[in-house]
Amino acid sequence: MGIGIDIGGTAIKGGIVDHLGVIQKERMVITQSQLGYDQVLNDLVLLIKELQQLSPTETAVGIGIPGILSGAGETVVSCPNLNWQNRPLKQDLERELTLEVLLVNDATAACIAEAAFGSTRGRSSSVMLTLGTGVGGGVIINDRVISGAHGVASEVGHMIMEENFYNCNCGKNGCLETFASATALIRYCQKQLAEGVESDLQADGDFDARRIFEAAKAGDSLALTAVNRLARYLGWAIANISDLVDPEIFCIGGGLSEAGDFLLERIRAETKCRLTYPRFAMPEIVLATFRNEAGMIGAANLGRFN
Ligand SMILES: [Zn+2]
Repeated sequence: MGIGIDIGGTAIKGGIVDHLGVIQKERMVITQSQLGYDQVLNDLVLLIKELQQLSPTETAVGIGIPGILSGAGETVVSCPNLNWQNRPLKQDLERELTLEVLLVNDATAACIAEAAFGSTRGRSSSVMLTLGTGVGGGVIINDRVISGAHGVASEVGHMIMEENFYNCNCGKNGCLETFASATALIRYCQKQLAEGVESDLQADGDFDARRIFEAAKAGDSLALTAVNRLARYLGWAIANISDLVDPEIFCIGGGLSEAGDFLLERIRAETKCRLTYPRFAMPEIVLATFRNEAGMIGAANLGRFN
């Protein structure tokens, strides 16, 4: 068993996770980040204490954070969703709790959940890409999470691909996230429509990524171009990551992964084209197993890949 917490922009979820990766008990509070760090800290302490009462033998709690952690995993260096900067969260929580507190980036937590119980289970080297409003990543090589000297080693969403027509939220131009997220897909289609490209999407006014995939599957030329473009950049990124750390398997999660094989087949083809050793070092590329619970399950199992 283990206690895992997933801090999101709208809710903080906590769960007691059993040895098979199943959440046995779950609690949730609203993230009141607008009331400041101390309020969220207080809510976190109460949530963790409640879970601890439900499972009194626990000695540690793992917490997934949607931001950058210090290399030692003690400080939240930056978490734009919660408006936190340089917050010593581990120390602040351990002062109030009788548990050891372990912090992890939420995308890394999801990667750990997949490696422990999901689609990459049993593989010692795996990479997870989470395709949502942004692109998150987690990297496990030889059964160890790669976090790097400054804690930012798995920021695959901000790898530079090439110049793009808009800047990333991080302030740079050319990040993978601006080519391969739901936001990227929508912005590309909007731009093409504004330039006069004909498409079924025009009639929809506001459209989301799911609608773009539907239109692409139905043969809409713009939507298909947009999906192929996204898959191309993901293939490049996967080939680059493969050349660097050579994982056995990649798993694709996040909202865009709902597109399933329609997306995966394209990513596989693009990866193969760009890989240096496609004949013997082509990684498997599969869909993630877990959805919203991944953060909690991974956070409760941090010890497995440290
Ligand atoms: Zn970026």
